[in-house]
Amino acid sequence: MSNYKIDTKCIQSGYVPENGQPRVLPIYQSTTYRYTDADNLGDLFDLKVEGHMYSRISNPTLACVEEKIADLEGGTGAMLVSSGQSANLCAVLNIASAGQNIVALSEIYGGTVNLFAVSLKKMGIETRFATGSMSDEEIDALFDENTRLLFGETIANPALRVLDIERFAKIAHRHNVPLVVDNTFPTPVLCRPFEFGADIVTHSTTKYMDGHATVLGGVIVDGGRFDWTAGSKYPELTTPDESYHGVVYTEQFGNKVAYITKARVQLLRDFGCTMSPMAAFILNLGLETLSLRMEKHCKNALKVAEYLKTNPHVSWISYPGLEDDSQYLLAKKYLPDGCCGVISFGVKGGREKAVKFMNGLKLAQIVVHVADARTSVLHPASTTHRQLTDEQLVASGVLPEQVRLSVGIENPDDIISDIAQALEL
Ligand SMILES: *Cc1c(COP(=O)(O)O)cnc(C)c1O
Repeated sequence: MSNYKIDTKCIQSGYVPENGQPRVLPIYQSTTYRYTDADNLGDLFDLKVEGHMYSRISNPTLACVEEKIADLEGGTGAMLVSSGQSANLCAVLNIASAGQNIVALSEIYGGTVNLFAVSLKKMGIETRFATGSMSDEEIDALFDENTRLLFGETIANPALRVLDIERFAKIAHRHNVPLVVDNTFPTPVLCRPFEFGADIVTHSTTKYMDGHATVLGGVIVDGGRFDWTAGSKYPELTTPDESYHGVVYTEQFGNKVAYITKARVQLLRDFGCTMSPMAAFILNLGLETLSLRMEKHCKNALKVAEYLKTNPHVSWISYPGLEDDSQYLLAKKYLPDGCCGVISFGVKGGREKAVKFMNGLKLAQIVVHVADARTSVLHPASTTHRQLTDEQLVASGVLPEQVRLSVGIENPDDIISDIAQALEL
């Protein structure tokens, strides 16, 4: 890990060229790697030496971007995957299998709710949902000896509830399981969950990290501090892996990178949800300006949120950066530099008025996306959260009149006048 500040890391971490090499990270558009002798390759297959053997598992372009993201989060290693969904899927499957269960906050991204409640269930993994408002005792009661991890989002999409990371890390650790935090919305520029006790961090890099709405991607980062050997709870990491001639991940790689190494050499090898070198290159371009963009997103969003509060057509507004927001105290602690660009608010007149408002926008556009440079809006109840039942909708904090506004990095006056005219319609 470098000692540079976060904005320096965005630019300098990861790729470090040697004398005479290209200054900018090259795209290694190659699926394969050449070896001069077969024994050398055999050692790679046995995980005795480090190196690339096939781009489904690793690639030099991706490796540099992985190193940058690990450095940004303050983790010991990272693994890029093809999407945020794959990141959360692999983060769970790396340490959970049929017959076991996980505990997750219900205030999370709708896609993750579907993944956990529907698809993982079909694979025999049960998800027990908790809410931030439950007492410690109520949450404790969800755990048993088959619980493998606790999962939450730093800023829940789209409920905009801030995760009390220290509290949930404590809960997870007293049950000897890791806390996995999806840190997509804040990015490591605004919050680094490892500093508050989280053990594994995931991201949809599709959002702010790429920042330009160009490439899908995800990443898992290992905090390197969880003791997988305590209590023989994680045999997949502490006993021989038959698919690698009996490698024991915690023995060969140590607690520091056992989790992320296993995720790569077993899950990426077997599932193949790999990111392409071209996508990694584009993601890296986005990362270079991440700190600059986050600063502007935060500033703009706060201005827009303050404006919305004064508009008579707005029934409620949720933005953790507002002093009277229910999440303000948590935001002050975990997000002191800003709360990202996403705002949720209700339009007076319910679902119908919300849709009318969205149709009337000129600068802000309706897209199924958040967290990129362009201001955009979405109606969660009829789009991203459409597959959820009414009960799940309420649990994930979505209301029919709710608009999710993703404030971009345009001039804030232009964004505000656009909103103002559309709310008059
Ligand atoms: C978008 C999103 C995901 C899913 O990521 P994709 O890259 O779209 O697969 C997961 N978690 C959060 C918080 C998200 O916003």
